[in-house]
Amino acid sequence: MSSDKYKGYRGKGLAVLKEHGVSVWSDVDVVAESGRFRGIILPRSETADENHIVLKLNNGYNVGLTADTIISLKEMGRREAHYKIPEKDFPYDSKKPNVKLFGTGGTIASRLDYRTGAVIPAFSPGELYGSVPELADICNLTTEKLFGVFSENMGPEQYIKTAKRIGEEIEKGADGIVIGHGTDTMHHTAAILSFMVQDSPIPIVMVGSQRSSDRPSSDAALNLINAVKAAAEGDIAEVLVCMFGPTSDQYGLLHRGTRVRKMHSSYRSTFRTIGDIPLAMINRKGLIHLRDDYKRRRSDRNAKINTAFEEKVTILYYYPNMLPDIVDACVDNNYRGIVIAGTGLGHVNKPLYPAVKRACDKGVHIYMTVQTLWGYVQMYVYETGREIMELGVVPACNMLPEVAYMKLCWALGQTDDREKVEKIMLTPVNGEITDREPYNGYLIYQGAIPEVQEFLRTIKR
Ligand code: ASP
Repeated sequence: MSSDKYKGYRGKGLAVLKEHGVSVWSDVDVVAESGRFRGIILPRSETADENHIVLKLNNGYNVGLTADTIISLKEMGRREAHYKIPEKDFPYDSKKPNVKLFGTGGTIASRLDYRTGAVIPAFSPGELYGSVPELADICNLTTEKLFGVFSENMGPEQYIKTAKRIGEEIEKGADGIVIGHGTDTMHHTAAILSFMVQDSPIPIVMVGSQRSSDRPSSDAALNLINAVKAAAEGDIAEVLVCMFGPTSDQYGLLHRGTRVRKMHSSYRSTFRTIGDIPLAMINRKGLIHLRDDYKRRRSDRNAKINTAFEEKVTILYYYPNMLPDIVDACVDNNYRGIVIAGTGLGHVNKPLYPAVKRACDKGVHIYMTVQTLWGYVQMYVYETGREIMELGVVPACNMLPEVAYMKLCWALGQTDDREKVEKIMLTPVNGEITDREPYNGYLIYQGAIPEVQEFLRTIKR
């Protein structure tokens, strides 16, 4: 027997495969004590335990079954998974726009490592194209892997390098830029890039995927096609996030980089514009604008790049009975800025006041945002709000907490002067502060309507 036939299986796991005459890549019907499953037997890591077999189910999930609990195991066929996608050279057409795709990592740049069952960032941008050839119908694509990290590992070093590379590509004449990025912190990166790269003449479109491309329900290809289309043909020259609109693949949404947030841990339609409506819908035919107050594409190359960043800034998410020592700890550890995500219109409890006052007196810049996400900080309504402002806390209008955090990092990277910081913070760069929320903004135009209709249709049956 070749060892590949039972790759990684030992002990009871190996015994159960042999007993039933199946091996790695067998498509099996399994009856176990926990239920019945249909899937492919995956190879295992040499270091995995001996007591399980691992199946890749048709829905894309992996399941481990204890060998002792298997009642029957029948081979229905064989299906070897080919997960190595060859790098392909992108065809060049002088009539098509030139788009630069930067890879930073995340699920969109990931595949399943069948040895370990883990999702690993191992897709190069070239492989990414190899798996989505439709991209060649839209543009000439050049790719560059900036990093290969899951997005929780993005930070100032990566933001600064990305902003600088964007600036260089704009100067070189790119018609659009796409940034493949993990979804978890895509809104943080979208916010900081909106501040670091201003007045871009071309679209800068961030894209990710909630499900890796080896899964049938993956959103990677469609999101990528939509993002590349928005970068190549779209006229919105801003930092955008392009992801699924509704839970189905009907259309994508283009969200402004300063008003967007990941709102669901697993849905593909996870990104929502908060406090506003998205800028546009996008499908294979092109963009459908939902509003017209956006920055237009230009032919000049005059973007402003400012990569200032102060790391000693934090967000305090207020909860009832937060103790003052948390605020003291920030001061004692030389934090220069604090964004509070307060309750309701922007509140914290009274026992926190002396610590907040001490922080402000020591020169820490404190800004108030709301944890409701929708709506404005309004600190004149209740006595609490007025008192907190008297301590030196500045209301940050309707800036989202993460956006205010990124803006404060950026502002404090430039100056420590109170008035100047306040001026930077409260002067909108690109929609992070707006005069009003549109009446139809709250949960409308978010891809929700078709889903509500679908829900009603299914429950009426
Ligand atoms: N954990 C991943 C990341 O943010 C999730 C994703 O890409 O969707 O990098």
